[in-house]
Amino acid sequence: MRRAWLRAAIVPVALLLSACATQSPVSSPTPEPLSPTPSVTTASETALTGNGDVPEVLDPDLLEHLPVTVHSQSGYQQHIFATWPEFGKPKIDAAIRGYYLSTIKQFEQDYPQPADPEAPSPELNLDWHLLAASPSMIGIVADGYQFAGADASDLWHSMWFDPSTDTVYQPADLVNSYAVSTALVGLEPSRRTMVTTLDLSPLGSNPYGAATLVAFTGNGDLIVGFDECQVAACVEDRVTMTIPATTVAPMLTAAGKRAQAAEMDPVDPTTTASTSASSPSPVPVVTPQPTAKKVNCKKLKCVAITFDDGPGPYTKTLLSYLKAGNVPATFFMLGQQVDTYPHTALAVAKAGHEIGVHTWSHRDLTRLSPIQIDKEITSTVDIIRNETGVTPTLLRPPYGAVNSTVRKEARKAGLAVVLWNVDTLDWKTRSTPKTVKAALRDTRRGSIILLHDIHKTSVAAVPDIIAGLQAKGYTFVTVTDLLGNPQPGVMYRYGR
Ligand SMILES: [Zn+2]
Repeated sequence: MRRAWLRAAIVPVALLLSACATQSPVSSPTPEPLSPTPSVTTASETALTGNGDVPEVLDPDLLEHLPVTVHSQSGYQQHIFATWPEFGKPKIDAAIRGYYLSTIKQFEQDYPQPADPEAPSPELNLDWHLLAASPSMIGIVADGYQFAGADASDLWHSMWFDPSTDTVYQPADLVNSYAVSTALVGLEPSRRTMVTTLDLSPLGSNPYGAATLVAFTGNGDLIVGFDECQVAACVEDRVTMTIPATTVAPMLTAAGKRAQAAEMDPVDPTTTASTSASSPSPVPVVTPQPTAKKVNCKKLKCVAITFDDGPGPYTKTLLSYLKAGNVPATFFMLGQQVDTYPHTALAVAKAGHEIGVHTWSHRDLTRLSPIQIDKEITSTVDIIRNETGVTPTLLRPPYGAVNSTVRKEARKAGLAVVLWNVDTLDWKTRSTPKTVKAALRDTRRGSIILLHDIHKTSVAAVPDIIAGLQAKGYTFVTVTDLLGNPQPGVMYRYGR
């Protein structure tokens, strides 16, 4: 149940904020008055679990005018999926990338794929969320889930930096570390969190120094967070302790004050004065482009090319390749990526490609409860519909992991379950020639080809895959056209 709250809670907050942000293209039935600056309006909502006050997450649309790209790394044998932002600043990007890659490396070392193929795969899922934004301070939090074969745990790690000067701040740069440590130890129980077994002694004389999360509430209170098992029994989830704004005020450094302000009253980091209240984008209205002509797959050698895990930084390049080849494709999108790249998602829809659901956060669905699966699916259906005007009818479960519960939830949501029968292993080889070779070698009539548009090497393979398969007499169609009339809850690996 805790986990249901963990991920699911992020979604409504993000969507709600998205509807309030000035530049958001999300439509709402009645136009809301534009606030001068995007702000956190959901003080009672929390976005991350933590057994106490937790920071709220902001809509990543707030970074729309920064050159932010989101990188992903995935693996199938060990179920690894991580996304993180990069800002085009050498020191900041090295710090962010360093955290994610070292966490992945540690996980791969600690939990290798079990030799028994029937044993459950270890899983690592690392998201990122925006905590705070201003021209001189951005805060993000890496939000992680890891399943190590027997038990699961959550982890988090906050990072603070100044995008204008490429400066990375350590937690000790934000506050007087000694004063905060002393305050944490002396906190009255109600401020220490609901956890009764809290034990700071393993952290030595400086509990603050061991904190994995440093952030603020919307009221300016300081939140200090710890990972599971760090200061309390592992069953207690992550723990946070809160120091009231009035108490913490004299403990804040200049950078700490900027961090506090950027979280209490976030503004577009590229603004110089107040946020320009640009008029809201029009409601996306997508008129699906008439497919050149209705293709008859009973007569032609049809195949479907599919792209998972996006949209991402290379998706627009991919769209130009598909257009050049006059090829319709199917994109299985992640809700969290649509949230970050709404304009790209809209461009995919406008180009007439099919859009399916790949869940919100790329978790192995077979490990989730029906309620959690439903939230992963419906939140993604909703954001795709809101941002593109398209209502998806296909689900591709992450890692191709399916059981009867997943199929049942897909049926309830009106989605057919679509796997693949040509795995190019593009995510593994990261090699354009090998990706092209695998696609041309393994594709047959009716094939569904799996690629990932979050990898540059995969996108680069697309022109040769298109040319190669067209030369062999294949016709590209969307998955729905390939399958004819896919039925909700039914699983497909290939078509006619
Ligand atoms: Zn995927």
